[in-house]
Amino acid sequence: MRNAETFLSPQSQIRNSQSAFHNDAVHLVYRLRMRTSSPFAITTALSAGLALLLAVSVAAQRGGRGAPPVPSTPTPPGPQHVEDLKREAAADVDSMRVMTQQMVDQVFSFGELGFQEFETSKYLTGVLEKNGFKVERGYAGVPTAWFATWGSGKPVIAIGSDIDDIPQASQKPGVAYHDPIIEGAPGHGEGHNSGVPLNITAALAVKKIMEREHLPGTLKLWPGVAEELVGTKAYFIRSGLFRDVDVSLFAHVGANLGVGWGGGFGTGLVSVEYSFTGESAHAAAAPWRGRSALDAVELMDVAWNFRREHLRLQQRSHYVITNGGDQPNVVPQNASVWYYFRETDYEHIKALRAIGDTLAKAAAMMTDTTVTSRILGSAWPQHMNKTVAETMYANILSVGLPTWDAADVALAKGIQKELKQPEVGLATRIGPLRGGQDPELNMGGPSDDIGDVSWVVPTVTLGYPANIPNLPGHNWANAIASATPIAHKGVTAGAKVQAMTIIDMLMRPELVQGAWDYFRNIQTKDQKYIPFITDADQPAITMNAKILDRYRAEMKKYYYDPTKYKTYLEQLGITYPTVR
Ligand SMILES: [Zn+2]
Repeated sequence: MRNAETFLSPQSQIRNSQSAFHNDAVHLVYRLRMRTSSPFAITTALSAGLALLLAVSVAAQRGGRGAPPVPSTPTPPGPQHVEDLKREAAADVDSMRVMTQQMVDQVFSFGELGFQEFETSKYLTGVLEKNGFKVERGYAGVPTAWFATWGSGKPVIAIGSDIDDIPQASQKPGVAYHDPIIEGAPGHGEGHNSGVPLNITAALAVKKIMEREHLPGTLKLWPGVAEELVGTKAYFIRSGLFRDVDVSLFAHVGANLGVGWGGGFGTGLVSVEYSFTGESAHAAAAPWRGRSALDAVELMDVAWNFRREHLRLQQRSHYVITNGGDQPNVVPQNASVWYYFRETDYEHIKALRAIGDTLAKAAAMMTDTTVTSRILGSAWPQHMNKTVAETMYANILSVGLPTWDAADVALAKGIQKELKQPEVGLATRIGPLRGGQDPELNMGGPSDDIGDVSWVVPTVTLGYPANIPNLPGHNWANAIASATPIAHKGVTAGAKVQAMTIIDMLMRPELVQGAWDYFRNIQTKDQKYIPFITDADQPAITMNAKILDRYRAEMKKYYYDPTKYKTYLEQLGITYPTVR
């Protein structure tokens, strides 16, 4: 990873690819990557952003700790007939606008949390089957996981995006203030409802061309199940989903079109639940006979919070108590605490988790309880492929941003004003191609388990403009745009880029070759993928089941019915935009 070719000059690193959010609360440092001259730079005026700016400027004054700048430019156009087919695919994506809108709205209305995406997966696989794809369901022991293939032979292009949503983020789309559809219910407070619809539209456009032109190659669509828990991608790898894949194209919602390559940003993580077992007793009559598992949880948390002072600045760690006992007069015999241990590379993540294990054992000793632990999720730090990113970026420049109308901008400014953020409206300029960063300059940040995939096959993530800049992430506010014309237009633009990039990879073998050259000779030269999960670990498929049990019946009343309503906004009777 420390190879010179993965770095750009420090000055080129200060960028922000707008407000795309992955699994963590604020997808900040990953997105602190836009040039300071960009209008979005104002969004970086947050403390973590300033810390990174400071670190970079200090490094620059020292002469820079990274390697010299390496040019990174969009891949030049291919032969004319390839460019013609790409243009044709983009036009076809445009012609599928209504279908795209219906898919985006439909998945939004299901609003399912990680591992409970039953309606979502049933619907999306249904669309794919209707269009000639072969579907395998229940993949890797995950009931809501699947993959869908069409075509035959090489190259195999994997096309993925996440499908789960956020607890308590229920929100009426198109309304620029907090107004839940169902109070307390989950909702698409990140925008994961639009990524697989984007991929389906792109794949259908490419499939038509492949059929007519008799192009060899296989399209393999797959969903990021439980991404908010970083819960499945390592298991998909273990089950062999990417074993035959040549290039992996991922898509993630953001507030602009964008793509990047290299590593040195954000974090990876291990998510571990520690469960303590003690002995119950009457908490007043015979407390001395009890051994409190809750005491162990609290002691572990106190120890961690003291230890925190002596951890690297790059680390992020946080916990919630998932079981704190039943009632005060019964000494808790069981208690559990769930930690995320985040660091910027594999060794540091492992070391951080080891500290957690030690403190858990120490807490058990202090309380005469016992402790077990299990992994609930994991993610490698991301490292994206240079050749594929440069190719996708050329297509991004060719497609350009959607044309926003006054209503779109009014909604965006409405919620930005509501949240006391700069009223910048929507993205109007595409940012630069984001290159890798010196790991020394990485100040940490969020994670995404597409990181694991990026270490087994050349991968990039397409950011597409289906959301509004300057939102907090993992929040009801991020759901506002997600079933409106902003999302519909952004997904159509993204689907064009995705379709064009798939065609590039199908028809220009030198690009696939270049991708693997970078992957083998630069990215993985000194660092190989070692999964955080062991053979004994299993996906945490029962997570979120209770929440869905509680809300499902009520949520069903609001599922989108495209046979009766043109849009979900129309079904909900929402005037677009509704602004205070
Ligand atoms: Zn995400």
